[in-house]
Amino acid sequence: MQIRDVEAVALYRDLDERFANAQKWIDSREYCLVRIETDDGTVGWGECWGPVAGNREVVEEYVTPWLIGKDPRDVERIHDELTFKLRSSYHSYVPASVVSGVDMALWDCYGKIAGESVSRLLGGRRREAVQAYATGHFFPDVDGTDAFKRAVVEEAEGNVDAGFDALKVKIGVGRHFPWSIDTDVEILRAIRDAVGDDIRLMADANHGYDTADARRVGRRLNDLDIYFFEEPIGPQHVEEYARLNRELDVPIAGGECWAFVEEFDRVFDRQAVSYAQPDVTSAGGITSMRRIASLADARNVQCLPHVFGSVVALAASLQVLATIPGNPMLEFDRTPNPIRDELAVDPIVNEGASVAVPGGPGLGIEIDHGVLERFRVD
Ligand code: CA
Repeated sequence: MQIRDVEAVALYRDLDERFANAQKWIDSREYCLVRIETDDGTVGWGECWGPVAGNREVVEEYVTPWLIGKDPRDVERIHDELTFKLRSSYHSYVPASVVSGVDMALWDCYGKIAGESVSRLLGGRRREAVQAYATGHFFPDVDGTDAFKRAVVEEAEGNVDAGFDALKVKIGVGRHFPWSIDTDVEILRAIRDAVGDDIRLMADANHGYDTADARRVGRRLNDLDIYFFEEPIGPQHVEEYARLNRELDVPIAGGECWAFVEEFDRVFDRQAVSYAQPDVTSAGGITSMRRIASLADARNVQCLPHVFGSVVALAASLQVLATIPGNPMLEFDRTPNPIRDELAVDPIVNEGASVAVPGGPGLGIEIDHGVLERFRVD
């Protein structure tokens, strides 16, 4: 069996309203999907993290000629050889998002060829549905802290009404608004007061703080019973992560900007996080996610994958989550995203506080080609 065609598919859609985290304003969605077709007509889909620019060129001009003719079932070997090849070529920058998109599409092909879900091929499922937490509560585009707090509290109450018992809230407003870290704590306090003590609350600073502010905020999170403090500082500062994880009572989470098992090995070696959050679209695909989850388990660290993509990334994350040891949660993105909601023939939705793992072969979803063409751009 051979790969006969590889294509990078660019999708784009403007959003009606913009929203922000501590990194940036988000006013559109764009994805670079990877479509791999084999000589028996099997089609697999993957997704690369980040802008189309860069991902598309590397996939189409660099990876495709190398990939044509290979056996799609040799997924792990292709993952490792592709990573080696990209490192040899780009040295200081390995486009892990490209490895991720290709690896995911190969696992989808392999599953469809074998007639099994990816989670079965990974060694079998530990669960048929995954506990989900609602990610949202970004920064609304409003004037004044009162309007801001009203908007995020309303959103939090809506998520609780939808059945979620765990919510993640964005902090680090000082990056976009003339407010201090006091406002970050006030926002969390307003949500805690609104939803009560039985709802699990997490705080995500999207690496917006310096270490001193991260420490100041982190100390105040105890009073609010915050379950974890995500990306307090830049991912390049692993030693400072370790210091915060030692000094603060609130557990430190992070990992969406780290890739491959070797990088997570260095993070675990320094005890830099209490929760590991690799992303299937940027950490090196399903192959890397499995390795990172195993390593996390060996270190007694819970793996809680980061998920913020289209339905392809969501399905792949669920396949991995079905296999992760311990008590993983799905990061279930509740922000507006038509490409996530409409691209699969059967959308992935929550039933109360959990989301079922798709049961079909491969990633378990079927792409709606009409919808795909609607979002597709050149
Ligand atoms: Ca995050």
